[in-house]
Amino acid sequence: MSAARRTEKKTWKDLVEDVIAGLPREFTLAAVLAYKERLAREYPNNRFLEAKIRQTLQILRDQGRIAFLGKGRYRRLDGAPAVSLLLDLAPAARFASPSQIARVVIETWAELNLYCLSCSSDRLRSNVPGTPLVDFTCPACDHEYQLKSKNGRFDGTVTGAAYWPVIQAIHAGRLPDYVLAEYDRRRGLVEWVWAVPGRCIDSKRVTARTALRAGARRAGWRGCTINLEGLPQVDIVVPKPEDRMVARQAWQRVLRTAR
Ligand SMILES: [Zn+2]
Repeated sequence: MSAARRTEKKTWKDLVEDVIAGLPREFTLAAVLAYKERLAREYPNNRFLEAKIRQTLQILRDQGRIAFLGKGRYRRLDGAPAVSLLLDLAPAARFASPSQIARVVIETWAELNLYCLSCSSDRLRSNVPGTPLVDFTCPACDHEYQLKSKNGRFDGTVTGAAYWPVIQAIHAGRLPDYVLAEYDRRRGLVEWVWAVPGRCIDSKRVTARTALRAGARRAGWRGCTINLEGLPQVDIVVPKPEDRMVARQAWQRVLRTAR
């Protein structure tokens, strides 16, 4: 989430809805209360956190957003949100460089539209800075995704993060899954989006780039290029949004064959 939006104080309803959006459609009170610490960070002076959360759930029920199923179980009543292809340029207004603008615009799009392929969560959470290999985490199942985007078409490769951390993640079996998004900056539209399982990427596909020369801000830093050609992929936008249940089923098939 951008710094600008983080400074706006969210209401209790917003906060609890955020939490619920990341949970499976049917969820328990305990699953909501597991986010107590996070809610407490927004409202550190509230001594009656649990009561406040229960009260907010009642408000959401009265507004028809969730149903009480009894015994501490709830169900979200919204349909799955539709994937929008429109890029919102507003969050990029305070950036000058074209690459920063592109990154903010596409990350904002992803935050609002991408969903987890590995579980039923209809939302992903953008990551805290300092985790260079992971851009988005599923709030429900902790699945990790790296987002790569390009104005125009990818040529079968993506520019990775630092070379050694990528190689180490591959050897540890911890490389996140890659989501690739192609967009058209001029039209302000996302055009093709697909996902490639990280477990399909072996170290032979990773090529070190030339280290940054002495005197550069990050002298000696070595990035990498990852060859994704021929790997199994699951479509998310083709160029119309794919049905998310279809995409999730395709993802499970791809993961089974990739084991
Ligand atoms: Zn998930």
